[in-house]
Order: sequence, then structure tokens, then C-alpha cells
Amino acid sequence: ENTSQALDSLRWYAQMGVDVCMENVPHRAVAHSSFNSPPEGDSARVFSVSVGGNASQASSPHGFASANPAPLQGSSMQAAAPASIASAVAQARALADSATDLAELEAAIRSFTACALKKTATNTVFAQGIPASRIMLIGEAPGTEDDRSGTPFSGPQGQLLDAMLHFIGLNRAENCYISNTLFWRPPGNRQPTKDELDICKPFVEKHIALINPKMLVLVGGTATASVLGDARGITRLRGQVFSYKNHYMDAEVPVHVLYHPTYLLRQPLAKKQAWADMLKLKAALA
Ligand code: URA
Repeated sequence: ENTSQALDSLRWYAQMGVDVCMENVPHRAVAHSSFNSPPEGDSARVFSVSVGGNASQASSPHGFASANPAPLQGSSMQAAAPASIASAVAQARALADSATDLAELEAAIRSFTACALKKTATNTVFAQGIPASRIMLIGEAPGTEDDRSGTPFSGPQGQLLDAMLHFIGLNRAENCYISNTLFWRPPGNRQPTKDELDICKPFVEKHIALINPKMLVLVGGTATASVLGDARGITRLRGQVFSYKNHYMDAEVPVHVLYHPTYLLRQPLAKKQAWADMLKLKAALA
């Protein structure tokens, strides 16, 4: 009887969108500082139930979540106060500044605890691919499968992205490099907040500078808005070529923008435009 009640509760939580346990005791309000995250795979996480696909990219092909999402009062997911966000950004900037190569940057990101997403994530998802590639892709954030595997784009979206890349002669084992604007999965695959993107941005900037690609490809509206600082939306920006440089870089790099594969899985008609974008990318690489 207890088991069946417990399963009913779990099902109800899953239907309500809860997919991760924050504490090992229910109904307890715990205020975490953003600097005291447990280590990866901490035992406080007692179960995780996967619900749905990547809700964030499914809901919209563009832009950020609200910069001020409604805080969950008394919960450990409560939004960080502005002061701690500024200090988290400063901490990330200092770490990014001091990383002199990719290994140091990865170690800095793995050791970074000032992004609250790390608390709910199973793994840090850094990147996959060949660092010496001419092309670097940046997506939004790790999803459910990626959080489990520690590898970006390892779920169904990743399979579609791989197929799109394969079509123009690219694959992560040989000639491209893939990362994200965030290194930890947002709970429930919700859209990243502007604060989370701002906190991770120094790492993303240094990452691009260290890879030093000949071409940068931003996958989806969130990556585009965050990296280019252009919130016009992916439907207006796709098909064009932009230019990007941050203060770690010596020269500008051309930027292509693609629909996010999660959007394409939900809106197959948009694949026609995505196909044209891939052909444009192929021509630019040639
Ligand atoms: N997985 C990723 O690594 N990035 C995305 O944007 C979506 C899924």
C-alpha cells in the first residue's frame, strides 16, 4: 500500500513538472547560499524523474526566459539575490581570465559553484569534439540525456543535429566542436534565465577565444541572443552572417545562426529553411 501511494505521489510530482529531488527530506525549506553546492552526484539527490523533452526550446525558438522568474519561496531553488549574481559573474570572470588553455578552463568550470544550476545538475557538461576544428557550435544548455551522460547534445536533439552536420560533411569525432551557453542543465529543462547566462558568459567567451574557430555557429535563439546580444529572434536572424569578437579575441569570427533541433523536431516544416541554412554553411566553409 505504501509503495502504491509513493508511486502515486511520484506520478503527481512528475505531472506537475518536478523532475529532481533537491533534498532528502520533503517539505523542508532550506536556504542554500550559491557558494555551498554539494559535489557532483551528491547523495542528497535521491531520485530523478524525467518529464517530457526539452521544455525550454520546445516552448519557443527564441530568446531568454524572464530575467526575473518568480522565485519559489522557501525553496532551495529560490533566485539568487542581485549581489550574489554580480559576485558570481565576477568570480566566473576571474576564473576565465586566468585560464590559459582548454584544460584549465574546463577545470575552472568544473570547480565553479556560484551558478545555482550546479546544485540540481548531475554532471557538468563542458564540450565535445575536436578542439582544433574550424567550426565551433554553441547550443543552449544541457538537456536530460546530456545531464546524465555529461556530453552535450546526446539526446534526440543531438541525433538531429548530428544528421544536419553529417549532411555537410561535419561530425564531432573528426571536424567540429560543440558546447553550450550553460554548463549545467536547468531543472525541468526550463529556459535559462538571463542571470544564469550572464554568470556563465565569461566562460563561454574564453571558450570561444581558446578554440579560436574559423566559424562560429549559434544553435537556437537563446545562444544567439546571449552570444550576439541580439534578441530579435532566430526566425529573423537565421540565414544571415554576423560577426563576433570578445575581449579575449584578436580578430572577428563570422557567425551563422541555426534553428535549434528541438524546434525542428516540433516544427518539421521549418526543416526546409534549416536545410537552406546548412547549404549556406557548407558554402561558407568551402
Ligand atoms: N542539449 C545540449 O547540449 N544543448 C542544447 O541546446 C539542447 C540539448
